[in-house]
Parts: sequence; structure tokens; C-alpha cells
Amino acid sequence: MISKENIIKRFVGYVTVDTESDPNSETTPSTAKQWDLANALVEELKAIGMQDVTIDENAYIMATLPSTVNHEVPTIGFISHFDTSPDFTGANVKPQIHENYDGKDIVLNAEKDIILSPDYFDDLLLYKGQTLITTDGTTLLGADDKAGITEIVSAMEYLIKNPEIKHGKIRVGFTPDEEIGRGAHKFDVKKFGADYAYTMDGSQVGELEYENFNAAGAVVTVQGKIVHPGYAKGKMINSMYIATEYINSLPRLETPEHTEGYEGFFHLHTMTGEVDQTTLEYIIRDHDKEHFEARKEVMEKLAIEINSQYGREVISIEIKDQYFNMKEKVEPVMHIVDIAEEAMIQLGIKPLIKAIRGGTDGSQLSYMGLPCPNIFAGGHNFHGRYEYVPVESMIKATEVICKIAELTASKHK
Ligand SMILES: [Zn+2]
Repeated sequence: MISKENIIKRFVGYVTVDTESDPNSETTPSTAKQWDLANALVEELKAIGMQDVTIDENAYIMATLPSTVNHEVPTIGFISHFDTSPDFTGANVKPQIHENYDGKDIVLNAEKDIILSPDYFDDLLLYKGQTLITTDGTTLLGADDKAGITEIVSAMEYLIKNPEIKHGKIRVGFTPDEEIGRGAHKFDVKKFGADYAYTMDGSQVGELEYENFNAAGAVVTVQGKIVHPGYAKGKMINSMYIATEYINSLPRLETPEHTEGYEGFFHLHTMTGEVDQTTLEYIIRDHDKEHFEARKEVMEKLAIEINSQYGREVISIEIKDQYFNMKEKVEPVMHIVDIAEEAMIQLGIKPLIKAIRGGTDGSQLSYMGLPCPNIFAGGHNFHGRYEYVPVESMIKATEVICKIAELTASKHK
């Protein structure tokens, strides 16, 4: 059995170290404080008996659990990130432990009247009777993704202490700066040397994901013509009006607030303008590669159309791809998803296989040659004060890691 006390102690130890990343920093890790936890993790991995424990100059940590079988087994990896989101403060996290959750409101902070309520967050009701770890309402928790780290370290410790569970070679990887989109950037896939891996970075117990968005960013620049308003007739071109025309010509219902599941969207996230020039910044998202390409084309054609109305180039557009759907890279090795699913079923967990409406480090890693589906780490309400994680979900995720290792070895006999 995985020890509940151990999981809690380990998790609390990690989240009370501030590791918030910073998108405005050029360095890796983006904040020096990420070294505090990184260095502690290196010591811990050595202490539990992991081998080849390394940390590079960018704070990427790797370690090996050697195979305990004589036959050939693919090397599998488990990956998570130790930074927390800059969206909300990660300093002075004071985790609150609520045993035997009764399904009612949880007062996170009486003084500031901050309540975690199932009326608003109804997934809380999935965890009645369980032990929840929450914040004190003033910080995020950092279950994203210190739950993942807790689970991976605990699973490795468990496999070391229970040698009767046979497994092949396992590689562990912990990264900085995932929350600012750079977790995979300096990940040395070759040095990692796994045939495939799993990121432990999902939410609800049972989640298993191998599809994510194709993603691009578009900057639309509208060039107007500024003239004194008193003498403007036939001369002034107000870039803001043209920008509005552009915005309104894109499908109004294909936006984040009107879409779900496999539905893609255009998302206008920033707009700055004056008469002379207006800039629109969009993100484009779609799971389907063809639809994704079509969306980019729609944006380009619309610019051409409006330009032809004005008889000159009033609109210019620049589109840059950001990341791609990992499905393309995972489907050829679909057994890695099947094994994870089977592991969950054997452990009595209902697999929730769904497409991510976003990207993961795993999608980047998949395109770097390391197919990398994502598995639940257990937390909810990431990146804010309402973040929480059920301890039972972390135990389940730990068991899933052990079971995947065991099944991978037994299936390759
Ligand atoms: Zn995460």
C-alpha cells in the first residue's frame, strides 16, 4: 500500500517551496527560486535509491530506476514540472488538510471570507469522504504540478521497496518553466533515452489524454491614416473601424466562450488601437489539422478581402504556429495509451479519455521524438486560490505509475 501520510508529507514539503515561474525572464529556469526545490529533489531522488541522478545547468532533473527483469523491455519515462503558474502567487503557500470531506462549503479563509463551495465547483462532490488539501485562500496550491512530482517520486520509492513488482528501466524527468510554455524547450530527449513517456500533469482522477489542440498565434495590424478631424473628409482612415470590421467578419460563435470538446476557435485576446494604427492579437486553436489550416486561411483571406475594398494594404497579418496535436505522434504507438488505460481499469479507476483544449509539455515532447500522453495528477482549479487536490487521487496516480511499469514489463515477455 502507498502510505497516505508519506504522500501528504511529501506534497506539503514541495508546495511550501515557492517556485513561481516568470514569462518576462530570459533565463532558464526563469526564476532562481526554482533551484531551491530542484536541488532538494535531486537529494531526495538519491536518498530513495534512484540511480544516474542528474541536474543540468538549466535545472532539468533526470534519474533512472534500473530494470529488474532479464528480458528486453522498452524504457518508459514519467515527467512533471516543478514550477507554478505566474497567474497567481505561489509564495507562502499554507496547505490546509481537510479529512473526511463532508460535501459542504470549505472555509478557506474566515477573515477574508473566501469559501470553496460545491455550489460553484461541483466536482468537489466526487470526493466526499476523502482527504482534501486546499490553500488558505491567499495563494495557489501548486498541485499543478507538484502533485505529479509527489506521485512519481512516491511510485519510484514504492517500486524500490517492493522488488517483487517487476519492471523494465524507468526514467524520471522533472522540468522548470512549464507554466510559461518552456518546459520542453531545453529537455534533452536523447539524454533522457526513453522510448516513450507520460506527463503526470492532468486534473481529475482517471484523465488520460493523447490529443491536444493545434495552435497558432496571429497578429493583425491595421494601418489607418491620421488627419486633422476638421479637414478629414475623404482623407482620414480610422484604423479602429476597420479593425472592428475585421473582428465582426470572423465567425462570432467560434470563440472560446461558445465552444467545447473538439470545436476549434479564434480568440481575440488583445486589442490596442488609435486612429493611426490598431493591433489585434489572436490565438487560433483546432484539434483537426485540416480545420486548423483552414482557420489560418480564413484570417488571411479576410485581410485580403478588406484590403481590396480599400484598394490598398490597410491590413497586414502575421501568423505563427505554436504547437501541434500530439495525436499524430502517439497514434503510431497507441499501445502506450492502451497500457495506461488498462492500468487504470485494473486499479478500479474509470478512464476518462478526452482531448485537451490546450497544449502540454507532452505535445512538444512528442514532436521532439518522445511520444508523451498525459495522465491525471489529481488536482482541480489550477492557477488560483481555489486549487485543491484529494490525497486519494494522488495515491491512485502513484498506483497507476507502478501498474504501467509492471504491465509494460509483463507484456514484453
Ligand atoms: Zn501543469
